[in-house]
Amino acid sequence: MIDLTTDINYLKGVGPKRAEILKSEIGVYTFEDLIYYFPYRYTDKSRFYQVQDIKSDSAYVQIRGKFCCFSDEGQGKKKYLHAEFFDETGSIDIVWFQRIKWVKENIDTKKEYVIFGKPNEFRGEFSMVHPEFEELEKFNNSLKTSFQAEYNTSEKMKKFFLNSRVIGKLVQVVFKGGIDLIEPMPAKIMQDLRLLPLKEALFNIHFPQTVEKVEAARNRFKFEELFINQLALIKQKKIRFNSIVGFVFEKVGDYFMNFFNNNLAFELTGAQKKVLKEIRADFKSGKQCNRLLQGDVGSGKTIVALMSMLIALDNGFQACIMAPTEILAQQHFESITEMLKGIDINVRLLTGSTKTKQRRIIDEELQSGELQILIGTHALIEDKVQFKNLGLAVVDEQHRFGVAQRAKLWTKNINPPHVIVMTATPIPRTLSMTLYGDLDVSVIDELPPGRKPIRTVHYHENHRGKVYEAIRKEIEKGRQIYIVYPLIKESETLDYKNLEEGYEAVTKFFKAPKYKVSMVHGQMKADEKQAQMDMFVKGETNILVATTVIEVGVNVPNASVMIIESSERFGLSQLHQLRGRVGRGAEQSFCVLMTGNKLTSDAKQRIRTMTATNDGFQIAEVDLRLRGPGDMFGTQQSGMALNFRIANLITDGKILQIARKKASELLEEDPKLLKPENKRLATEVQKYIKASWGLVS
Ligand code: ADP
Ligand code: MG
Repeated sequence: MIDLTTDINYLKGVGPKRAEILKSEIGVYTFEDLIYYFPYRYTDKSRFYQVQDIKSDSAYVQIRGKFCCFSDEGQGKKKYLHAEFFDETGSIDIVWFQRIKWVKENIDTKKEYVIFGKPNEFRGEFSMVHPEFEELEKFNNSLKTSFQAEYNTSEKMKKFFLNSRVIGKLVQVVFKGGIDLIEPMPAKIMQDLRLLPLKEALFNIHFPQTVEKVEAARNRFKFEELFINQLALIKQKKIRFNSIVGFVFEKVGDYFMNFFNNNLAFELTGAQKKVLKEIRADFKSGKQCNRLLQGDVGSGKTIVALMSMLIALDNGFQACIMAPTEILAQQHFESITEMLKGIDINVRLLTGSTKTKQRRIIDEELQSGELQILIGTHALIEDKVQFKNLGLAVVDEQHRFGVAQRAKLWTKNINPPHVIVMTATPIPRTLSMTLYGDLDVSVIDELPPGRKPIRTVHYHENHRGKVYEAIRKEIEKGRQIYIVYPLIKESETLDYKNLEEGYEAVTKFFKAPKYKVSMVHGQMKADEKQAQMDMFVKGETNILVATTVIEVGVNVPNASVMIIESSERFGLSQLHQLRGRVGRGAEQSFCVLMTGNKLTSDAKQRIRTMTATNDGFQIAEVDLRLRGPGDMFGTQQSGMALNFRIANLITDGKILQIARKKASELLEEDPKLLKPENKRLATEVQKYIKASWGLVS
């Protein structure tokens, strides 16, 4: 038996140089890491071909035979080595462009070989470039497998001859040494789900005999990964539930009632009422509220958050709301101040650009308790921000914050505050389970009444004239129009140019004084931006030309058309957010997606999805499929929580559900995983928590 924690450097065939590469390129530090480096696919090696069987459409083939007739061909840089490989039925040309010397020295024309590769046809002749080859005798002695595992390797790895095949060989070396691993999975679950035992699964994932065995092995590891993720999350939740005393917000008082009676201009939807009830129940329970608030764009999450904050105030606590960007924080500040008009509540804004003098006031008032609602960005979680008694923290657009950042909010008080996390757009269920599995979930699954579904259409840029004509009609009806241009961070000057040209084209068509056009973009001074915005909000201008600064939060019910220029450059959730700016009034609204003529297949699918549905949950599913969880959430922010080795959140939803169920059952029986039979599992969970959240709990 070998010690699997041995440094990979000491594996036969590795050595210091390759060890460095394995560590830096694929994070393989030990023998164990290597056997947990799983293949990404398998090629069929269940049969041998004869040369005569090769057809023009043969995929990879495996042939037994001998090499002969080596000759150097070509000149200078175009030099290559040519040989023939033959069996009793014929011969095929073999070509090497690289490692020519090594090949010549290592191939023995007297010996039999097995080659593996993809044949190319040229004028009826077949050839193979750089086939894998191995002496028949060695081949017969190696671990047999019908399906050859293929491992991901980088260019750098290949330079050091660490290609997929070599990785496979190295894995073999480990297995031949004999491996000894303790099964972390509880016996009962193994039985219930008929999971392959660890060792058998590991063997089969690298050297499978049948398709069924590969599947069984992969499923075992998928389950294990998701199971551990769920154990970590549910355990976290239980610890919080059992050990943290939550503030009790007994009453609904004057602030809430005053707002409800005098300032709330509409009736809450059934879904909003339901969610408020859930939150209130948390507040009264004596436990800390940790709730994910999901809802589509425009479903009215802000009101729910605000009313929750008012309950905190009614019980003598402070509240805060944290947004991911300065613009959003600013918008929250404005809309919340507006909504609270006439009610005496001290609300302030804290961002990275808050001036020192203002900052000092905020610090003082926070500590004296005078400041009741603080709105801001990440600046809120800095250590120097000290509340007197923070009772509720609302996090908007949570998906841009990581688990660790969320945890930091709790340290804002001796007792951690209640936490409500809101998402900007819906997120797929598999993602919310793996990312926010430690939170309770509320869903606002209903839009305010009277909203007509937005009609979304796609036009190529050369039909812009037609689109402008349609806009003209809408303006004649008294409606207002958004025209949005993309903004890419890398090239703000370019975007600015796009926007300026756009503005020129728009004002040429919609001429003053008959038509009035506002423009806002990120480069403008704050007050100038505000002035332009205000004109549009008040209905003094007909059209607002803008970059994505208006993506979130802007609310002009009279605007009925959203035109998104170069829409192929936007992601799905961003398009959905932008579209959510219209359809807020009683009129029929439209969203026009303008694109160039050439679209990638991904872009086509995004556009198609947008024109087909208004349902944010459905759009989120497509988004996940197109982008993958890492991109959708930004790998950096979401940490390793989504870097599953083998589980796939797009296709493994079923396994995830079983994993969640089994995890909560197990934690019912053994909440701290202290039973001897769960010891090994507890270690794995701890390892996962440390690696993915950087927290020790
Ligand atoms: P989001 O969930 O996207 O954050 P908002 O909270 O910004 O949505 O709400 C969108 C708009 O709908 C706002 O103008 C808000 O005032 C309005 N709104 C919210 N709830 C209702 C309701 N129950 N009836 C009518 N309008 C509502
Ligand atoms: Mg919102």
